[in-house]
Amino acid sequence: MYARRMDHLPPYLFARIDAMKANKLSQGVDVIDLGVGDPDLPTPDHIVEALCTAARDPETHHYPSYTGMIEYRKAVAAWYRSRFGVDLDPQSEVLALIGSKEGIAHIPEAFVNPGEYVLATDPGYPVYKTSTLFSEGRLYEMPIAAENGFLPVLDDIPADVLRQAALMFINYPNNPTAAVAPRSFFEEVVEFAREHGIVVVHDNAYSEITFDGYRAPSFLEIDGAMEVGIEMHSLSKTYNMTGWRIGMACGSAEIVAGLGRVKTNVDSGAFDAIQHAAITALSGPQDCIGQACNIYRERRDLLVAGLREIGFDVQPPKATFYVWAAVEDSIAAAARLLDEAGIVATPGIGFGTNGEGYVRFAITRSLERIREAVDRMGRVSL
Ligand SMILES: *Cc1c(COP(=O)(O)O)cnc(C)c1O
Repeated sequence: MYARRMDHLPPYLFARIDAMKANKLSQGVDVIDLGVGDPDLPTPDHIVEALCTAARDPETHHYPSYTGMIEYRKAVAAWYRSRFGVDLDPQSEVLALIGSKEGIAHIPEAFVNPGEYVLATDPGYPVYKTSTLFSEGRLYEMPIAAENGFLPVLDDIPADVLRQAALMFINYPNNPTAAVAPRSFFEEVVEFAREHGIVVVHDNAYSEITFDGYRAPSFLEIDGAMEVGIEMHSLSKTYNMTGWRIGMACGSAEIVAGLGRVKTNVDSGAFDAIQHAAITALSGPQDCIGQACNIYRERRDLLVAGLREIGFDVQPPKATFYVWAAVEDSIAAAARLLDEAGIVATPGIGFGTNGEGYVRFAITRSLERIREAVDRMGRVSL
């Protein structure tokens, strides 16, 4: 009944973890879920108010524009200017997305011919792989490992892959490893993309979730990046708006236009009222971001200290709301955490074969719950 490509979809580990969690909950276990990469904090009030006001205006009730309201695209351009010093033409270099996942899922359709390679980091956000599969491209997994700061080694990519490579996904600050990339890495990527004619898609979903004075750059800050690439960004993590489904693709006009042409044929844009609220988010007071980061930092420090005390090898991340902790066997560790401590953590192998040897903890739970999680972990054999 199903098309053959469905057979190639990776076994959905996250669905299995959900089932295991549901099973524990039904047994009355007080489960602490550190698995989901979804902020527990609410969207700031002024953004919610802006949605309510906009939703009452019947003007917002029609089909939105395919590219996004020009006012939204101007607000994105203004935000990129003030945050990164990057100048974008709102008409041609900014496109509204229904969340950045949507852009990531659609972009290979525009740039990858069947059989051409997509380069994606492994471990990585699973959508890079599935979008490659749906576009009938071939995946080349660039391993990322602790000894290289979880950055891919571009020189290791075989020449025959490079000859047929069409697109590369990168993502720093990184999910799931929480690694950040130095500017020199982005410069290397621009050079490499130019040399091999590769479209670069940088996924910058976590640029605002940073700690200890670290400021994440935009890929588009790098000289030449605007010619070879595009950046997927999103309000989801920055303003606790994962449920709203609003993001943006910015960069090379030609690449933005290619993605736009695919989207015109698939979706009909993001709800105008949400775009109005997103304008308020991007152009209104930004102190909510620093407040959220302070909360995440306190949680990070508590979890990292607790994990170290019980013998985990962990580094405090400079960005993202994840802690990537080394373990012997990722599935066994996650199973024991759930069985013996009632804690959900994500086995690294769920993000790719090179994620084996790690579990990912999301610090999207209160300090009190994280303290409880640390206490429980100290009492089980890990
Ligand atoms: C959360 C996340 C996204 C998707 O966010 P949207 O809600 O679709 O904007 C994209 N990439 C990574 C790496 C993420 O963790």
